[in-house]
Amino acid sequence: MNEFELIRTYFARQPVQRADVVLGIGDDAAILAPPLGKQVCVTTDVMVSGVHFLPDADPVALGHKALAVNLSDLAAMGAEPAWFTLNLTLPEVKATWLEQFCQGLFALACQYNVQLVGGNTSRGPLAIAIEAQGFVPEGRALLRSGARVGDRVYVTGELGDAGLALQHELGKGRLPDAVFEAIADKLHRPTPRIPEGMALRDIAHSAIDISDGLLSDLGHILEASHVGARLFLANIPVSLAYRDHIKETGWDLALTNGDDYELCFTVPEKNTVALEKLQFPCGFHCIGQIEQMHGLRITDESGKPYRPRQTGHDHFAEKIE
Ligand code: ADP
Ligand code: MG
Repeated sequence: MNEFELIRTYFARQPVQRADVVLGIGDDAAILAPPLGKQVCVTTDVMVSGVHFLPDADPVALGHKALAVNLSDLAAMGAEPAWFTLNLTLPEVKATWLEQFCQGLFALACQYNVQLVGGNTSRGPLAIAIEAQGFVPEGRALLRSGARVGDRVYVTGELGDAGLALQHELGKGRLPDAVFEAIADKLHRPTPRIPEGMALRDIAHSAIDISDGLLSDLGHILEASHVGARLFLANIPVSLAYRDHIKETGWDLALTNGDDYELCFTVPEKNTVALEKLQFPCGFHCIGQIEQMHGLRITDESGKPYRPRQTGHDHFAEKIE
């Protein structure tokens, strides 16, 4: 199968058809018609075999995750996803691998009505790069730089399960099979918090998605906003599976492990009533407060300062009291 047959077979006949795609796959470039009054948010992420996933990783999950991590970045901006492009580098053309990859990719694309409008296909070490675009009403994107002293700090969903599942896969902490199966999707098929990000546009001052770990990612908000924060360990939301293993695992996976793809956001006191009215299926929890004093302070269950063993962010480690 040559490059053009491959594109025609797997990528050109894709299921989402949006009216704002004037010209999709097939020409030298796509032509897109963004709606009036909206700004276009653009993001890209690459996943490289041997770096971000094992060469024998499930292709269905890879297709899902390659798009999900990009949609998660759009969610963190409060954007509504619209289009994406796919740059695929493959060592060889394997029909079953490509079919399964497309199955995972397009199932998620359908879920959020985001259309594949172009890309590039080349031979080489396996790597998947996606660029995604979405819309925000003019001037209303959620930025890292918007946090203000007095804001409450929140996270969606629960933290740490992706880290727990990864530890299990790396043989560092065995979980019972049923427990691993219950949390494996958090690692391999993360859910981008798209409706949550869009709903937070009018309520949150700032937002980020948790791809590198809560402390590191919240650290980016603090730095961009020139503020500090206090977190309460007892308020960090973790799953029942995580709680069951907390004696061995401790809090650090939930605080410092990446791959959770939840949103961390800050909300001014005056908007907390509106926030409480929002119905997120994944839920959300207040985990702390933005303070004037720079750096991040964590209080444990007994009111004492808590210092994580690692932060995943060296620069950040110096700032913990
Ligand atoms: P060019 O050589 O002009 O860059 P290509 O032959 O690489 O064009 O691609 C032909 C068409 O197929 C283009 O519209 C391109 O966007 C699309 N395409 C190529 N690879 C992919 C892919 N992996 N996924 C989606 N579309 C692709
Ligand atoms: Mg060309």
